[in-house]
Amino acid sequence: MRQILLVRFGEVFLKGQNRPFFMKKLIDHIRLAIREVGGNVWLSEGRIYVSDFSDLDECIRRVTKVFGVHSVSPAIEMPKDDFDAICRQAAEMMRPKQGTFKVLAKRSDKRYPLDSPAIMREAGGYILQNVPHLSVDVNHPDHEITIEIRDHAYLSVERIPAVCGMPMGTNGKACLLLSGGIDSPVAGFMIAKRGVELCCVHYHSFPYTSERAKEKVLELARLLSEYCGRMRVHVVPFTEIQMQIHEKCPENFTTLIMRRYMMRIAQIIAERDHAQALITGESVGQVASQTMEALGCTDEVVGMPVFRPCIGMDKSEIIERAEQIGTFETSSLPYEDCCTVFTPKHPATHPRKELIRKAEKALDTEALIAAAIEGTEVVVVG
Ligand code: ATP
Ligand code: MG
Repeated sequence: MRQILLVRFGEVFLKGQNRPFFMKKLIDHIRLAIREVGGNVWLSEGRIYVSDFSDLDECIRRVTKVFGVHSVSPAIEMPKDDFDAICRQAAEMMRPKQGTFKVLAKRSDKRYPLDSPAIMREAGGYILQNVPHLSVDVNHPDHEITIEIRDHAYLSVERIPAVCGMPMGTNGKACLLLSGGIDSPVAGFMIAKRGVELCCVHYHSFPYTSERAKEKVLELARLLSEYCGRMRVHVVPFTEIQMQIHEKCPENFTTLIMRRYMMRIAQIIAERDHAQALITGESVGQVASQTMEALGCTDEVVGMPVFRPCIGMDKSEIIERAEQIGTFETSSLPYEDCCTVFTPKHPATHPRKELIRKAEKALDTEALIAAAIEGTEVVVVG
């Protein structure tokens, strides 16, 4: 008899020819997620099991963050031939519970002497007799104990919801523009959840932005990596570009021009890191650079899809999501971002593209971008 973890995953995308590919990715990611708590991960009869871990709670915390996992249940695995022992174990697992219960039985071993209704009846009767403070309610029970007869018997009471989504790496790779704010980590999470591998780019304006501001962003990336695994963060020196924009371009266009540079550089880094799209945390109308026209201006310089999963979300909804995924607290640390340095008093909210293009002519775009890329530092997190 031993403690194991049952791992359930979605059905839809596991059907058809892609199934082995999805399963392999999912199992690889679970193995990686628990590498520090130990544990064996294996597949049997269409289900994933984890055993031999050193710390059940930590194992659950990690496995429920793996994209593609829908729920987990701590379970007892025991020999199936001694049905009395199974009933005794079921009663022990129900003893700490209060209220009503129901036994669910699943039997994939069709040669087992008891069929499912018999297992439910016998085990239910035994629990009732031996744990007198419980009663049965088959319609709306407070607790369900599941007895599964497979190669062994598996008994479980708890079902813990997990993050869902698709296994990481089954839907390509995208490059997240990660600031120290609340929105971009949420945006990265939402796209990664669809099975998209991430890399990040962060623009750093030392000495206007501090070392602590950079550390904060790396911590956000690390928090994201708890879901999406190890990834590269490209930290790009942005001071020179910002200074030049500030000196040579009309003040009301500076934010927009700066955003166009961010997109251009991100695209080059994305291509080098084999990513096929960019992700930002923008939301319509949130700030001056996120009006329809401003978004059009930033999109103009990019030749790959730009995903903005927060685009239709209210700030309060984004915050709620940030709290759920565990990035809110770090995002709320009060360090400066390069966007908050050199902010114009009256940023253009309805910019005309041709005026922006003209204003940019004052800059040596190619040289500025080449220097920024040259100075980029790559940090691996996770
Ligand atoms: P966030 O909360 O994600 O910082 P925001 O509401 O502050 O977003 P902006 O500062 O206008 O909005 O930034 C819009 C998007 O541009 C961000 O969501 C992020 O994807 C990207 N971005 C902004 N600043 C940086 C930065 N320093 N490095 C990398 N990407 C950035
Ligand atoms: Mg920001």
